[in-house]
Amino acid sequence: MRRVRAYRVSSLAIRHRNLGEADRIVVLYTRERGKLSAVAKGVRRTRSKLAGGLQLFSHARVQLAAGRSLEIVTQAQPVHLFYHVREDLQRYAHASYAAELVDVMVEDQAADPALFDLLLSVLQGLDEEGDPPTLIQGFQLKVLGHLGHGPEVESCVGCGTRVGTRGAGFSVAEGGVMCERCGGSRTAARVTPAALQAMRDLVELPMEELARRRLTGSVREELGRLLQPFVEYRLPWPLRSAEFLEM
Ligand SMILES: [Zn+2]
Repeated sequence: MRRVRAYRVSSLAIRHRNLGEADRIVVLYTRERGKLSAVAKGVRRTRSKLAGGLQLFSHARVQLAAGRSLEIVTQAQPVHLFYHVREDLQRYAHASYAAELVDVMVEDQAADPALFDLLLSVLQGLDEEGDPPTLIQGFQLKVLGHLGHGPEVESCVGCGTRVGTRGAGFSVAEGGVMCERCGGSRTAARVTPAALQAMRDLVELPMEELARRRLTGSVREELGRLLQPFVEYRLPWPLRSAEFLEM
């Protein structure tokens, strides 16, 4: 008998697919080991003790055993099930986007506790009364910034001078804000003072604070027009969940 190495992780279920009659392969984003795939045996049976903690978006303490190719879930103790996210279509769509964004941007088995905490906090914000578009736009900015993709929101990406809120441009390809001079000579969209200030706030403020804020309709729409292409430009392929977002 081969000795099976078991270990515990704090996990968020970000994707799953059915396997055979009653099993499921779950993709977990874990605080300790990053993204990993595991087999959850019998999880689709009504009496399965694993089901709650492995539902999409669930935060759980999970025990895993190393399998031959995939890990095997041996226990899943739910910490937070995010019922409100699951019951509300708009919140569900935004949570799906957040999970897919992390899924696409990270490699397997690369631990990143700060990114785990970001994903957990956006799910918490969505589960409480947070405004989904405000939270997701903040999440986009924070995740990309954390992974080193910007956008730069303070200094011109063309010449490095500090950019005020008036006359600023925003370049998807070059990675952030531009001063009036650089923005005029290259491909940069105009960005209104209100939208630029909002972008800076979303970068700066913690997710818990963003859960209490709501961007106005026009600022949210403008940020959507700037950030959606900015995110897509940095992804290997477009996110399936993006088409269900109402920003
Ligand atoms: Zn410049």
